[in-house]
Amino acid sequence: MKKVTIVGGGVIGLCSAYYLVRAGYEVRLIDRGDIHSGTSFGNAGYVSPSHFVPLASPGIVAKGLQWMLSSSSPFYIKPRFDWDLIRWGFTFWKNATAKTVEKNAKPLNDLLHLSRELTTDIKNDLGNTFRMEEIGCFMLYKSAETEKHEIELAEEAKKFNLETRVMNAREVQSLEPEVEVNVRGGVLYPIDCHLHPGDFMNTLHKHLVSRGTEFQLNTTVTGFAKSGQHITTVQTDKGDFECSELVIATGSWLPAVSKSLGIDILLQAGKGYSMTFENMKRNLKYPAILVDNRVAMTPMGPDLRMGGTMEISGLNSPLLIKRAQAIFKASKEYYPNLEVEFPSKEKIWSGLRPLSPDGLPYIGRHSKFDNLTFAGGHAMLGLSLAAATGKLVEELVAKSAGSVPLEPFDVERFN
Ligand SMILES: Cc1cc2nc3c(=O)[nH]c(=O)nc-3n(C[C@H](O)[C@H](O)[C@H](O)COP(=O)(O)OP(=O)(O)OC[C@H]3O[C@@H](n4cnc5c(N)ncnc54)[C@H](O)[C@@H]3O)c2cc1C
Repeated sequence: MKKVTIVGGGVIGLCSAYYLVRAGYEVRLIDRGDIHSGTSFGNAGYVSPSHFVPLASPGIVAKGLQWMLSSSSPFYIKPRFDWDLIRWGFTFWKNATAKTVEKNAKPLNDLLHLSRELTTDIKNDLGNTFRMEEIGCFMLYKSAETEKHEIELAEEAKKFNLETRVMNAREVQSLEPEVEVNVRGGVLYPIDCHLHPGDFMNTLHKHLVSRGTEFQLNTTVTGFAKSGQHITTVQTDKGDFECSELVIATGSWLPAVSKSLGIDILLQAGKGYSMTFENMKRNLKYPAILVDNRVAMTPMGPDLRMGGTMEISGLNSPLLIKRAQAIFKASKEYYPNLEVEFPSKEKIWSGLRPLSPDGLPYIGRHSKFDNLTFAGGHAMLGLSLAAATGKLVEELVAKSAGSVPLEPFDVERFN
């Protein structure tokens, strides 16, 4: 069987390796870091079919423009003259229509449901060493306007076979025995689950090492050698690696890595922050999105993580403390007696969500080469979609029938 080289050891790269190894392939994975701290580590840990509306949706542009006026809002675009950003923004705006959302919601949902099932399969295969809990996720709200919107969404969710439970404040509180909840109400999506993303990554890594996967860590891919339509070699700062099948899964660096293959991918990084509080005396039981403030709260065993914000400010922008403070403030408004202190700057984590302009990932082969597959652009759903993406990557490499139709995720759809 062919040896597959994967560039990028985030959750998408590791899940791709998991399914390839399972199918009998030899795998080499190259990452420029040590795969122990990136975006796939510090995220909120949701595997969430509840997120069935693609990011590019009607209303988001107007809401985004309104939010941009406030330095502590959940959304920010750093104004700059950058041709890639302008092209991405224009394509995002063109896709934020009811018609496109309707077209994209089904493939997104099919992928979310497949991934949700496969995540449980991975847990059953490797053991629950990553604090996975299958109890659902709350959308909590404080304002009447948000309540109306969330109840409408819960209605719409039925179209995608999603069960929802609309609850008033008292009912929400009854499910949170240890912590006071100050909300108007909430919608529970029982299908969702959550886990510790770092533990998930470590479990996959350990498993893959035990199955003989070659990890070339702290190794930066700098280019590729080609012969006609075939990529023959991956060039790195640590030397060249021969390659017969190549998978590029470099998250927010998809455009940077594919540029050296003469391939243009529309993608922007959406920065987010998280803060983790260890060994909580009284912790949340349920994960929850504080919808008015776009903040995610996740209990992870004895620990609690809170995260949020979407900053489109390039790949190397500094941490904006005001935005982390806004996340923390929202958590206290929803959970007034939460025993947490705002952490020092070094303890605030940030990561980059790879944002495609229509809210669907890029999963597929590229027509320019006969041995190239892309897997990336999963935005705020990378963990949720990782298992299904890994399975699809294995099917693409094997050239076997896909578990779901792949056209909506075509890498060349904006060309
Ligand atoms: C605050 C926050 C909360 C989130 N919460 C959730 C959530 O609850 N649920 C969910 O589903 N998603 C969530 N996400 C999104 C999720 O974390 C991402 O979609 C996902 O981690 C992306 O995975 P990836 O493997 O594509 O990219 P990454 O994890 O970024 O991995 C890409 C890898 O490529 C490597 N790389 C890049 N360039 C090169 C190069 N030249 N050579 C070698 N290696 C290279 C990088 O070092 C990196 O390790 C959240 C994100 C943030 C920021």
